[in-house]
Amino acid sequence: GTPICECNACFTGPDCSLFKPNCAVDVDSGNPMFLEPFWKQNAGSSGVMVAGWHRMGYEFEDGSLISKQLKSVIHKLHDTVGNANTSNKYILFGAGSTQLLNAAVYALSHHTPYSSPTKVVASAPYYPVYKSQTELLGSNKYKFSGDTSSWKNKTRSTSTTTNFIEFVTCPNNPDGHLNKAVLQGKFARHVYDLAYYWPHYTAIPSPMDEDLMLFTLSKLTGHAGSRFGWAIVKDKDVYDRMVEYIDLNTYGVPRETQLRALKLLNVVLQGDRREMFRFAHTIMKTRWEKLAEILSTSKRFSIEQLPSQHCAFSKQVRPPSPAFAWLKCEAEEDEECHNVLREANIIGRKGAAFGVENRYVRLSVVNSRDDFDLLLQRLQDLVSKQRSIV
Ligand code: PMP
Repeated sequence: GTPICECNACFTGPDCSLFKPNCAVDVDSGNPMFLEPFWKQNAGSSGVMVAGWHRMGYEFEDGSLISKQLKSVIHKLHDTVGNANTSNKYILFGAGSTQLLNAAVYALSHHTPYSSPTKVVASAPYYPVYKSQTELLGSNKYKFSGDTSSWKNKTRSTSTTTNFIEFVTCPNNPDGHLNKAVLQGKFARHVYDLAYYWPHYTAIPSPMDEDLMLFTLSKLTGHAGSRFGWAIVKDKDVYDRMVEYIDLNTYGVPRETQLRALKLLNVVLQGDRREMFRFAHTIMKTRWEKLAEILSTSKRFSIEQLPSQHCAFSKQVRPPSPAFAWLKCEAEEDEECHNVLREANIIGRKGAAFGVENRYVRLSVVNSRDDFDLLLQRLQDLVSKQRSIV
């Protein structure tokens, strides 16, 4: 019959149950499929049906491009989780947070009173899109200028007249660190990319209260394909500039996407409002326990131990359970860590993509269960093989 699911690369057959023995497990991309079982369990309450005549127009009845209901659910979501302070702030939507990253750079580089372009920086290892998107249109208003640390002292000097936009990713993709802003002073503006600041991945010590914060449905509910993100913005001028960008770039986020996001977030907030978070955290925690156990027996690979923190949402002290494992190859000859893994049929993303050495490699921990189990098995084989050689 017709397959009911799309098989991942290591399985085939009508119901994806036939395993292809030597296939490589692809943990390069952070496709958040680990949440699919939760949505299968909640299939009825989370589904949307859109009739052919429904929501055909460009704008909502009030002339805006943004659903007021969805906006108020987002306020409620942050109040419930306690990860961001949204009071007295503006909210706008984007096609994923990807679109909002550039909207933020556009908005924050606009008022440059000096002729030199605004420098866009991030702390290495950083999410590659900050660089590639900033460079895409070759703007003369802003330039990607690499790792934040090389500019640290320059923003303190009084002779500086260059403006900076610093991406602060917390927790960081790829290494899970709870990054803080490095650049200070009147020439530095910050974009807080909080894609992973959810209890699935980290303790939530306190709500973030920054001038510009970005979130995405992708890593919250796992609906990466709906392309829905939102920005929480303090300053009216910056908000207006970001709205201008979205208006000219796509004229808003599809009504279908907003409808789906509303339906999903209502499920997230229903009942005691913790079910999805409990589900997501349990999976991530279990995955990390298994990964850590395998890697603890290896001298060839290491993973940095990140500290536990008190989580105000779960009222527990918890270790982090990041979306990615940031693996380091310790042996001198293993400079190209991704190649070592590739030989063991694991496809990861090399350090160079994040602005650091290839001694590091990023592996996704948020993929489907099949992919994760296969990753564990391949890592286990690799680590055991290593031990028997030694
Ligand atoms: N920021 C970070 C740090 C990410 O890891 C991602 C997704 N990989 C995004 C932004 C963009 O996500 P989306 O466009 O799906 O919202």
